[in-house]
Amino acid sequence: MSDNSILAQDTHFFGDVCKNFDYAAKFTKHDAGLLDQIRSCNSVYRFRFPIRRGNGFEVIDAWRVEHSHHQSPTKGGIRYSEFVNEDEVMALAALMTYKCAIVNVPFGGAKGGIRINPKNYSVQELENITRRYTVELIKKNFIGPSIDVPAPDYGTGEREMSWIADTYATMNPGQLDAMGSVTGKPIALHGIQGRREATGRGVAIAIRECVGVAEDMQKLGLPTGIAGKRIIVQGLGNVGFYTAKFLQEYGGIIVGICEFEGAIYNADGLDVEAVFQHRKAIGSILGYAGAKQEFKNSGEGLEQPCDILVPAALENQITAENAGRIQAKIIAEGANGPTTPEAEAIFYAKGGIIIPDMYANAGGVTVSYFEWLKNLSHVAFGRINRRFEENNNLNLVNMIEGITGISLTPTQRATIVKGSSELELVNSGLEDTMIRSYHEIRETYKLEKIDTLRTAAFVGAINKIAVSYQNLGVWP
Ligand code: NAD
Repeated sequence: MSDNSILAQDTHFFGDVCKNFDYAAKFTKHDAGLLDQIRSCNSVYRFRFPIRRGNGFEVIDAWRVEHSHHQSPTKGGIRYSEFVNEDEVMALAALMTYKCAIVNVPFGGAKGGIRINPKNYSVQELENITRRYTVELIKKNFIGPSIDVPAPDYGTGEREMSWIADTYATMNPGQLDAMGSVTGKPIALHGIQGRREATGRGVAIAIRECVGVAEDMQKLGLPTGIAGKRIIVQGLGNVGFYTAKFLQEYGGIIVGICEFEGAIYNADGLDVEAVFQHRKAIGSILGYAGAKQEFKNSGEGLEQPCDILVPAALENQITAENAGRIQAKIIAEGANGPTTPEAEAIFYAKGGIIIPDMYANAGGVTVSYFEWLKNLSHVAFGRINRRFEENNNLNLVNMIEGITGISLTPTQRATIVKGSSELELVNSGLEDTMIRSYHEIRETYKLEKIDTLRTAAFVGAINKIAVSYQNLGVWP
């Protein structure tokens, strides 16, 4: 299908992001023109290209939006979905700008989208579409390690990022930094340890930080800590699966999982890995033996008893229509834009709290930043200093043993002496970023007496971006 009607604006996601922005801007003191520059999408590239299909052609609709150039390069995922439209890509690009500012990652925001349901195409066709999309971006200077750096999003993963990297490198022979043109690549193709699970790990850390604040939990009538908290996760894809897995590791009880085909629930807990394997085997979470309840209508799954709800599928999942029936006290937005502004107002009026998307799911872009740095420096983190670190640790252990007269066991020695691996460095950098950013947002929330964490996150982001624009000036 390629008629013009599919380009019509049938959502108001960008409008919702702007609404949140405008509200937050009232807590800042910036010039109206500067705020307008921050809020606007700088470049919106809409294009179409053909692919061969069967005996003929099919025209594919695609977008790349660069929301803000206050930092370079711009950065943001590429989404493959039959529902992608311009409004959505603009909204997601804008969220990327604020997200990067919140976690102090020096990128402007961008996003891409291809309007296809990947399940309807063969692997060869998906490769053709991905490579042609990349070439279209190259032609317009919309991709490059110092220009605009895509990453995975809904419907894409390491495989697509490999095709993009290879196409970019092929079209730019001899460019030393070509692998920095895209992140989320497989480890064997200049990716970084920990990127695959980074967004989910970040969401889990965000929740851990939130439930660790006694004052806030008291208001919600919940004890502190993740252990024992009942959690429902929507979406068992990259973000949802890893979020659920890490929360389970922290002692949380995953009582519900909602997918496209329906939802399952068990107050005693579901085994996330087993549910994932079940879905992999039969193509559905329904029929999983460990579930006590099943819902054919996936939306019902969101409304079941729990303490924390993690929407990690798509936008507009919690709306004015169902917000009143959500029983969770905390919504942690793994997905981008899952809660509409109207739903947020209803949820806060009920006494709940929302950990906003642009902070909660920023773990992905944080580790993408590490991957980009690795690609530009052409060396894996930890490679140069690991042995040096081990020797230093060994000297320290020997000295302490000498002074105290206490000998460590070989296992204790090995644990202390061991230098840091790339994965450990990445995970500690991610954890540090998520912890610092949460408390920065919460401090703004408390100090400025702001009503929601989302508004507080926006205020912080707007202030940082405003400083960048003021420092840059306007040329000519
Ligand atoms: P994904 O394609 O890996 O997984 C999405 C999952 O959601 C799929 O399993 C899909 O079947 C399910 N789903 C779709 N519609 C649903 C519905 N109505 N109800 C229940 N489940 C449904 O995608 P992802 O990468 O995990 O992205 C999910 C969300 O997280 C998106 O909003 C994306 O923008 C956001 N996000 C992703 C990343 C990342 O690193 N992948 C980073 C930041 C934000």
